[in-house]
Amino acid sequence: MTNPSARTSSPALSTPCDSIVPQPLTCPEDASARHVGSRQALIDNLPYMAMILLGAAILWGAVGSPFCRGFLAAGYVAYGALGALWIMAFVCPYCHFHGTDLCPCGYGSIAAKLRSKKECEDFPRRFKRHIPVIVPLWFLPPIVGGIAVCGEFSWILLGLMAVFVVNSYVILPLVSKHYGCRSCPQKDTCPWMGGCRTAG
Ligand code: SF4
Repeated sequence: MTNPSARTSSPALSTPCDSIVPQPLTCPEDASARHVGSRQALIDNLPYMAMILLGAAILWGAVGSPFCRGFLAAGYVAYGALGALWIMAFVCPYCHFHGTDLCPCGYGSIAAKLRSKKECEDFPRRFKRHIPVIVPLWFLPPIVGGIAVCGEFSWILLGLMAVFVVNSYVILPLVSKHYGCRSCPQKDTCPWMGGCRTAG
């Protein structure tokens, strides 16, 4: 399904959402990019997985008590996994790609197993409402690590935080915007891509 027929043959794409979707698939290049294989989905997920592992390592290194460091690191990993599930449960059902193999990171197919498809017109509102649930993942490790480094300097912790910042604040958004979401027909209505500036 790496041709334009992939789009027209998908039942999930014959919905009222078509009214909000530009028609970019007249371009063969875009059309070939529509089907998302496991390799592309893995690449799209790598920066998020790296952020979770780096964040857990920072929390582990920032806390002295063996019990607290294990609790914090494991809690952060669990938060990262639950955050992804939260997005699948509360954002993806409103996405045009729910239940299809067109989702850049593969969440769309998993989301279909959790919840049925909802009205796509509500996507920008749901996105803005639920994205804040996972935002602390970006801030907790630098804050806790920064406090620890100020109290007792450590090059290892500082290095981990530098890699965390580059991965989470530079690489992850770049991969999302210029790889995973680059050819998404919903990008004009997605707040992550700067769309829906007038959405409430
Ligand atoms: S494109 Fe985004 S919102 Fe749509 S199914 Fe994939 S992860 Fe969910």
